[in-house]
Amino acid sequence: MRWREASMQPAPFRQLRPWLRHLASSERLFIARPGLDLRFEIAALAKRLQTRSAILCPEPGGQGIPVIANLLCDRSWFAEALGVPQAELLERYRRAADNPVAWREVPDAPVQEVIHERIDLVRLLPIPTHNELDSGPYITAGLLISRNPATGEQNVTIHRCQISGPNRIGVLLLPRHTLAFHEMAEKAGVPLQVAIVIGVDPLTLLSSQAIAPLGQDELEIAGALHGTPLEVVKCRTNDVRVPAQAEIVLEGRLLPNVREPEGPFGEFPQYYGRREDQHVIEIDLVTHRRNPIFHTIVGGGLEHLLLGALPREATILAHLKRVFPNVRDVHLTRGGVCRYHLVVQIEKRSEGEAKNIILAAFGTHYDIKQVTVVDPDVDIHDDHDVQWAVATRFQADRDLILVSGAQGSRLDPSAKAGVSAKMGLDATVPLGVDPFTFTRIRVPGEETLDLDSLLAPDGRERLRELLG
Ligand code: MN
Repeated sequence: MRWREASMQPAPFRQLRPWLRHLASSERLFIARPGLDLRFEIAALAKRLQTRSAILCPEPGGQGIPVIANLLCDRSWFAEALGVPQAELLERYRRAADNPVAWREVPDAPVQEVIHERIDLVRLLPIPTHNELDSGPYITAGLLISRNPATGEQNVTIHRCQISGPNRIGVLLLPRHTLAFHEMAEKAGVPLQVAIVIGVDPLTLLSSQAIAPLGQDELEIAGALHGTPLEVVKCRTNDVRVPAQAEIVLEGRLLPNVREPEGPFGEFPQYYGRREDQHVIEIDLVTHRRNPIFHTIVGGGLEHLLLGALPREATILAHLKRVFPNVRDVHLTRGGVCRYHLVVQIEKRSEGEAKNIILAAFGTHYDIKQVTVVDPDVDIHDDHDVQWAVATRFQADRDLILVSGAQGSRLDPSAKAGVSAKMGLDATVPLGVDPFTFTRIRVPGEETLDLDSLLAPDGRERLRELLG
């Protein structure tokens, strides 16, 4: 199931359908029998296969539009979509984020082939319910594109979107860019123009998670990842520009001074965000391709976690490298919900340096709660290897850093209103020790062994001879 060689990788995938065909051709697209239940069944299948296969579910809940999930099941899939070896993924992503490519507007687009003016979202679209205590169906893979009311600059990100009524969506806006634009509009007493875009290529999806400055249109990062300007089209009922090749677009307005109950919803820390009054979007128009596909992301599932991890890792790595050029790589572990626990690989030059790097890493993102620093011989993408390094190179009385009362994640239920302790573990080998003490055992030839060449051609006969 794994992609074999970097040299076999095609150019970046700039559209969703070729990516699905590519997954199918490499046996990574599970096509379900028609009619799976939108309530839990699609999410259950997606979750069961989340480390190895995308899914395509025809006629979900008896509806005509198929649902897809698990577009990205592993870090290596991102590299594959981008057409680079995995080792270059973070660097390539950072370069794209630093060098955005302006989009190109087109007058007509596939995403506007079909237009619906009478909106009943759950009848129009196959919107799944994912986790047990979710309040109901949620659009989870919708790129929410908004426009700065003063400058027209766009912002792209994903927010969880609860279906609250036929054309009504409850949306959680954390203190990020969409909220900044909304507050500008709300002060002026006007709604914020928005579009929710469902069904985009994997790189545009990834660009929506970029940690970019306010005013940077993330669709330009998609262009940089694609290596060519992204085609966009103007919405029919407002001025938002949306990817022309997308599957489905919901055009609407984020209402000023309206708050309604939203949640609970299963989130990335593997707990529920609770029901509270949140913002509301009213949908004015739905457009889609003639035969659209609906993408869903299971809340707290691997696709959700990985999409957040990559851009963060790229940003953290760039920050650390600026001060510590001997930082080689970083990894946000899955056990740390791809947000809270960071592993840093360094080429150690002086004693004590790992502790400086730990302190710097805490400063790169408030979500980071634990940092483990390891040497270059430790595979930071292998949790067992990292744990081994801590087990055999770390002493708590000497190598531990504790910071209490720092800013942390509000979604971490063990934090008090977002105030959290930080822990750093220096699991590097001390400099100047007898090198034999830390020489890792290895069996020569294990990695390069060709199993086929060692297989007995007449194994069954031999077994009979030996065992009688
Ligand atoms: Mn942004």
